Amino acid sequence: MTDWISTATELADEFAKRAGEIDREGRFPVENLDRLREVGYLTAVVPEELGGGGADLATMAACQKIIAGGCASTALATNMHLFGVGAAAEGWAAGERAAEPIFRMVAGGAVVGGSLTDAATGLNVRTSSTPAVPVDGGYRISGRKSFCSLAPVLTFFWGTAADTGTGRLLLFGLPRDTPGLSFVDTWDTMAMRGTGSWDVRFDDVFVPAAAVQRGTDPAAGPPVWDAVQERTFAWFAVSVASVYLGIARAACRLAYEYVTSRTVTGATLPMSRQPAQVYSAAEIELLLRPAEALVSDGLARRAAGERLQPADIQTIKYTAVNAAAAAVDRCVRMVGGHGIFRTLPLERFYRDVRAGQFHPPSNDVALETIGRATLGIDPLAEPRWPAD
Ligand SMILES: Cc1cc2nc3c(=O)[nH]c(=O)nc-3n(C[C@H](O)[C@H](O)[C@H](O)COP(=O)(O)OP(=O)(O)OC[C@H]3O[C@@H](n4cnc5c(N)ncnc54)[C@H](O)[C@@H]3O)c2cc1C
Repeated sequence: MTDWISTATELADEFAKRAGEIDREGRFPVENLDRLREVGYLTAVVPEELGGGGADLATMAACQKIIAGGCASTALATNMHLFGVGAAAEGWAAGERAAEPIFRMVAGGAVVGGSLTDAATGLNVRTSSTPAVPVDGGYRISGRKSFCSLAPVLTFFWGTAADTGTGRLLLFGLPRDTPGLSFVDTWDTMAMRGTGSWDVRFDDVFVPAAAVQRGTDPAAGPPVWDAVQERTFAWFAVSVASVYLGIARAACRLAYEYVTSRTVTGATLPMSRQPAQVYSAAEIELLLRPAEALVSDGLARRAAGERLQPADIQTIKYTAVNAAAAAVDRCVRMVGGHGIFRTLPLERFYRDVRAGQFHPPSNDVALETIGRATLGIDPLAEPRWPAD
């Protein structure tokens, strides 16, 4: 059985050596994906009986945290492949069989990515401004989506579009070489520059009815919070939280080592003995340890059979990504002016960690969910906000 933690640790060390260059070039780390494929990491969450590694969410989260410390872009992009497959694998363990073709495809080497984001609908994944026109045997889709991580290498694409007849939201999967489907490099960003989160173009793409996994009616409100929903959102939130905590832990290691090994001229003791540095280290730990504990708590509750609620899951993600960003800020303060030089990876950590807030649920959306749940307000209660 593969020791995934050791594998992730070795890969993180290897990826760290080229992470700076990947960031500067803003290029997708194809060689890192090759290495992940070589060691079986891309099939780690596929059920063992279908040729995968059978890794659970706790293992995957721990590995993603480690890999993010080496190259955050590689970890985050890979997350888009792993989280959906992993969530489906939990369903498989619970007796659900619908995703078997996906597991076989991934076990055979497929890289899965997707975009649920249209320019016009932003992070609201329950609607799409991409029209799907019903035709004989399926739909014809024209339009454009954005933020498709892994775009340079994915072999299977997931996306959403709205049925122009019924308004229903369709989730569909297509092979990369589907006629009319193309990927456009628009990814020139401040953070996560190596994720290859390109735009996706649909030029009169035919989507066969069999490729449409489900259709949901946006007017019906959010889907019932069932086991499938919980798994999908828990895998996404916990793995994303782990990626950003991994960046923060890498920044801490650097900052702690920096102040411990630096003794300025005229001083007898290293910089780490300055009260300001001692307090900074404490404040960083007081940010990160509760966030890490929340991730562990969520994992333990799920392992004990609990179905987490949306507010539980969003609390984990919100706390982790915001604690991670605040901790990295403090690491930069500890290191001082040398922290903004590109010779140290700290300025990359500082930029990358800022992207955590944008993954769904974004900070503001999470605050609304968590606040409503705390005050006992139905998440669907209308009016959303009182007028007086
Ligand atoms: C590095 C990276 C990789 C990504 N990879 C993928 C991927 O592979 N696939 C994919 O589908 N997506 C991906 N995303 C996209 C992400 O999931 C979001 O869909 C995207 O960031 C939303 O864009 P936006 O913030 O401009 O959204 P907008 O909806 O335009 O939001 C703009 C602002 O308004 C706020 N806002 C919007 N709606 C509400 C609301 N209802 N209540 C309160 N505030 C609200 C938001 O919080 C945000 O601050 C990625 C994002 C990043 C940063």
